[in-house]
Amino acid sequence: MKPVRTPCLTCGACCAFFRASFYWAETSAGTPGGVPEQLTEKINDFLVQMKGTRGPQPRCVALSGEIGSEVACSIYEQRSSVCRAFPPSLQDGVVNEDCNRARAAHGLKPVTSADWGIKD
Ligand code: SF4
Ligand code: SF4
Repeated sequence: MKPVRTPCLTCGACCAFFRASFYWAETSAGTPGGVPEQLTEKINDFLVQMKGTRGPQPRCVALSGEIGSEVACSIYEQRSSVCRAFPPSLQDGVVNEDCNRARAAHGLKPVTSADWGIKD
């Protein structure tokens, strides 16, 4: 059965757990329409990170809403490759332990098929 929703819109945990770092040229400084440069900070000559994603209580500056309730990425269409490449658990039926680890850190249970709107 096809999913009817994504668990991400009521989660957001990975955006407040991992450091989101990527090649600087993905930003608007290197790619027109890329990740807004002002929302990033330099790590080194090659890499930048989303502001807010490093430190003891990370939370990406682009994440809006309340984690575990209702969230959105305010730059969804411009988000980086690292964000695009992170699959929510059980997407295409494959468990993503890192997704579930981020959720656990925010007191959320592992993703189930019910979170995708799929009945067992
Ligand atoms: S932790 Fe998993 S379910 Fe939550 S927003 Fe990230 S990918 Fe989606
Ligand atoms: S840019 Fe968007 S998807 Fe990427 S970490 Fe930030 S809020 Fe999450």
